[in-house]
Amino acid sequence: MGRDLPVDLVRYARQVRFAPFGEEGQRRLRGSRALLCGCGALGSAIANTLVRAGVGTLRIVDRDFVELSNLQRQVLFDEADVEAGLPKAIAAAEKLCRINSTVTIEPVVADIEPANIERFCEGMDVILDGTDNFETRFLINDVTVELGLPWIYGGCVGAEGQSMTILPGQTPCLRCLMPECPAPGSTPICDTAGILGPIVGVIASIEAAEAMKILSGNLEAVSHSLTVVDLWQNQIRQMDVRGLRDQTDCPTCKHGEHPWLSGRSGSRTAVLCGRNAVQLSHPEASISLDELAQKLAGMGQITRNQFLLRLKVEGFELTIFSDARAIISGTDDITTARTIYAKYVGN
Ligand SMILES: [Zn+2]
Repeated sequence: MGRDLPVDLVRYARQVRFAPFGEEGQRRLRGSRALLCGCGALGSAIANTLVRAGVGTLRIVDRDFVELSNLQRQVLFDEADVEAGLPKAIAAAEKLCRINSTVTIEPVVADIEPANIERFCEGMDVILDGTDNFETRFLINDVTVELGLPWIYGGCVGAEGQSMTILPGQTPCLRCLMPECPAPGSTPICDTAGILGPIVGVIASIEAAEAMKILSGNLEAVSHSLTVVDLWQNQIRQMDVRGLRDQTDCPTCKHGEHPWLSGRSGSRTAVLCGRNAVQLSHPEASISLDELAQKLAGMGQITRNQFLLRLKVEGFELTIFSDARAIISGTDDITTARTIYAKYVGN
């Protein structure tokens, strides 16, 4: 029952008892810092595991807020978070602090973009993929190869999920595996294909385990396979990727190209997976939600908390964050979303 353990390790007694991890692994994990990109389904399960395991710092970057349809698979959130309209990073941090108060949680409400990703990576030892889109994954891949930072790719849709660990310079990167980012609409997404909760738990657990190996200094235990799990077809496949880096002439990890990272400035738009919503963002901008609330008074139904302002108007719902980013629900048309944003928020 941990009777010989130092008091600060007692809560990790069962984990320390696992010989390949041990006290040394626990101490190294506690001194480590992980960046979680996205805190939806995969992200909340990953965060839950790593914070319970005793990672030193977990920085959580997420652009979204909690909705009722998230609760089926996003294990850190509950109905009160939906009611409060909290950003996911904030709601997650509140839960995680109660789970393990010795972990430093750094919630960041933002979209991950070329203009900010290097700042989010500062001081981090590993990056975990909790995103829902390949554009962000290729951006993560660019920056990790540039910085020599390990990252763990993971994704799920339907009842299938996959994961691969990338140690830049040593193992194949995402672009060695997929030379080009899949075009929008070319891969199944949760909006159209749906998603079952259990596959999220499987892939999140693989990602968390790989992070624990890296952060505890057990690099020899890291997987060298692309793992694909299908819980409906009852299949688990492991594809050995060790030779892939030598077989390909990867522009990113062989020639130092980083096209996603170099597409830096300007406003950006993204149609959000399965949401009938569009996100507009303005890197390096900010907005006063108080002033905006005054400006919009009487124009529609307004609700707000300290993190965001929500306006229901003309059959749309605008959720505006203090970094001038907005999610416009009720359309998947970028032009319509831009028009609504310009009308009520400005340019
Ligand atoms: Zn590569």
